[in-house]
Amino acid sequence: MSTSLRDAVERRLRSFGSASVLFYQQPLRMERAEGVWMYDADGRRYLDLYNNVPSVGHSHPRVLAAVSKQLGRLNTHTRYLNDVVDQYAERLLATFPEAIDRLVLTCTGSEANDLALRIAQAATGGTGFIVTETAYHGNTAAVTDVSPSSRPGRAPPHVRAIPPPESYRCSTGDPGERFAAAVNEAIADLERDGIRFAGLLVDTIFSSDGVYADPPGFLAAAATVVKARGGLFISDEVQPGFGRTGASLWGFARHSVVPDVVTMGKPMGNGFPMGGVAIRAALLDCFTAETKYFNTFGGNPVAAAAGLAVIDTIHDEGLTENAFRVGGHLAAGLREIGNHHLPIGDVRGAGLYIGVELVSDRETKTPAPEIASDLINRLRQRGFLIGAAGPHGNILKIRPPLCLTKDNADLFIAAFDEVLREIAPAPRSGVAAASRH
Ligand code: PMP
Repeated sequence: MSTSLRDAVERRLRSFGSASVLFYQQPLRMERAEGVWMYDADGRRYLDLYNNVPSVGHSHPRVLAAVSKQLGRLNTHTRYLNDVVDQYAERLLATFPEAIDRLVLTCTGSEANDLALRIAQAATGGTGFIVTETAYHGNTAAVTDVSPSSRPGRAPPHVRAIPPPESYRCSTGDPGERFAAAVNEAIADLERDGIRFAGLLVDTIFSSDGVYADPPGFLAAAATVVKARGGLFISDEVQPGFGRTGASLWGFARHSVVPDVVTMGKPMGNGFPMGGVAIRAALLDCFTAETKYFNTFGGNPVAAAAGLAVIDTIHDEGLTENAFRVGGHLAAGLREIGNHHLPIGDVRGAGLYIGVELVSDRETKTPAPEIASDLINRLRQRGFLIGAAGPHGNILKIRPPLCLTKDNADLFIAAFDEVLREIAPAPRSGVAAASRH
């Protein structure tokens, strides 16, 4: 690490201390970004395959113009009527199934999930929640309770953590049926402890658990169980939402379920802090009957202008379709590489949310977090940014802005292949194809 970079890291730590989180062995000093490219303090460019916040592209001119114009006109709390705010709410609600007809706007995904938990408690009279084993849903006290990845192995008494619906490690039976059975058991377990079931909260692409998307429809059986047992199905769309999975604007749509509550965040404002809860009127009314809720900044006119520009851009630039097309191309390229590189155990995902599971042995499927870390850092040195997920940190998380092109994807595929050759030279005769879930 150069002296100036070391100084910059020390400076960061002096202010932010142990709560500071920096990526990469050689942290990056980012200065600006445009589209899918980020530029560091030395002017070096990086292909961004990690960020789902600037989802329609870094510094998108349409979002910039909308936010700047609105900032110069009016920005205030949300207790006045304002056309942009109502226009945004109508546009956003129109993207949901008809039953979901109300919206509460917040500033973060954490706030949205916090509110969703409270709505579920008010509507069901229960306090028990079910989540997946390595889920992350945000950072408030209540949401940290339902985020096992923040406190591994220490779920509080009202929370049950179950395995995600995956079919790489556990290939017997149907993942959806297995998941539904686990939900059923967890509800029974809560009840044995005298805790009434309030809801199932899932990220519909299972990002932190390790990216699980297939087969489409695998959430439907669990949704049926949740309904039958009187709880709410809460779909956390902070990661898959706004077109990322390439099939629809929403991750739950791939699974043909209509959630009781939908929470949103990250890509919603393309970097402008926004979150939200979309919900049926009757459920919202249950909550507001007992609790007053007001959010000073949530859905302010500037946020609404940003949100509107994001929805318009996704639509006008065909970004959901692009996620489908370029995501498919990227996943196919990575699978092709898997034919030559033993550490690639599985390539999976939907649209431009791709997980690559690295293993030290394809038979035993032993997780290889050290290979993942080495690969991520070497790619960073070459100018490509990705991250890792899963309980062992061995699943590469590839999640670029939705405007990634096939040429961008090809650049990454070639670099990925080269780095894998450096780390683990391919056997001369090639190897069996990586799993294709
Ligand atoms: N839900 C999921 C699935 C997330 O990934 C995140 C953030 N990474 C959140 C909720 C919390 O969103 P925020 O950081 O905006 O509070």
